[in-house]
Amino acid sequence: MTVCKVAPMGVLTPASLDEALATLSEHPDALLLAGGTDLMVEINEGRHHLSDDESVVAVGQLPELRSWVHDPVARTLRLGAAVTYAELEREPLAGWAPALAQAARTVGSPQIRNAATIGGNLATCSPAGDGLPVLAALDAVVELLGHDGTRTLPVVEFMTGVKRTALRSGELIVSVTVPVLDGWQGYAKVGVRNAMVIAIAGACLAVDRPGRTVRLALGSVAPTIVRAADAEAHAATTVDWDTEAVSDDAANRFGELAAAAASPIDDHRATAAYRRRAVEVLARRLLRRAFPNGSL
Ligand SMILES: Cc1cc2nc3c(=O)[nH]c(=O)nc-3n(C[C@H](O)[C@H](O)[C@H](O)COP(=O)(O)OP(=O)(O)OC[C@H]3O[C@@H](n4cnc5c(N)ncnc54)[C@H](O)[C@@H]3O)c2cc1C
Repeated sequence: MTVCKVAPMGVLTPASLDEALATLSEHPDALLLAGGTDLMVEINEGRHHLSDDESVVAVGQLPELRSWVHDPVARTLRLGAAVTYAELEREPLAGWAPALAQAARTVGSPQIRNAATIGGNLATCSPAGDGLPVLAALDAVVELLGHDGTRTLPVVEFMTGVKRTALRSGELIVSVTVPVLDGWQGYAKVGVRNAMVIAIAGACLAVDRPGRTVRLALGSVAPTIVRAADAEAHAATTVDWDTEAVSDDAANRFGELAAAAASPIDDHRATAAYRRRAVEVLARRLLRRAFPNGSL
């Protein structure tokens, strides 16, 4: 039997974003706690030792982080960092960001999705984080708040490596904004089973029909999420935008170029070769779903 010993943990609970910022000014190296589905695992399993003077600041119930705004004129969706996967998988959010809803439905279990937040997924920045390829494919913008005020970063600049981000000491993620695109979008992942599974490979494809572009982001196949720029450029020129069709050759090449963008590793979940093959298949299938009108 494994006995888990956790020391009592004091948690500061600011009531507003301003209060949270003031708390962080006093405790710049405080640990932020949202749904706790990553952080509490780290603490309970002893991978993060809470020192006596280390503060924990709960941000998961801050009204400013719990809310979202859909702007139909700008065609954007601004998600507070503490919006949960359970909210993302349902209407109305699912209608504006369908790939994010699809990714949300693959996260953990209903219990995990009720607690787990998009901000927590971003801050943990695991290469296997299911929300992250979607945010990367959508060119999401992350809003950060610290003592020096607000700054925004494209999500691909926010994610700097394996569990590494551009978040500075004393800063928190306030929101992430995605465009509401006109075009098909979807997320797919490969794991060892259908639920409660960490992605061995994941991919998000998002079509911008008016802009005639295809965006493709890959997860679990590099230190952090990567965009497959060559595959995207190939799709933009080989898709027949009028009939919404793509040839088998073009779809196959799209898969190969996606695989070429990956730099996976062998680990206990899969080999690098398997991961590369998995993203090739995922990318090709996603392109086929986006443009189902058969071969040219
Ligand atoms: C059983 C189980 C299954 C899981 N399955 C999946 C899965 O299928 N796919 C997947 O992607 N993930 C999965 N996870 C991981 C986890 O649920 C997600 O990463 C989740 O999105 C984390 O969100 P949270 O709110 O729980 O974060 P927390 O655990 O509260 O925090 C995570 C990290 O983010 C920081 N943080 C939180 N909020 C902010 C903020 N606003 N600003 C700055 N930093 C912040 C915290 O300090 C901490 O470092 C699983 C976890 C468990 C326990």
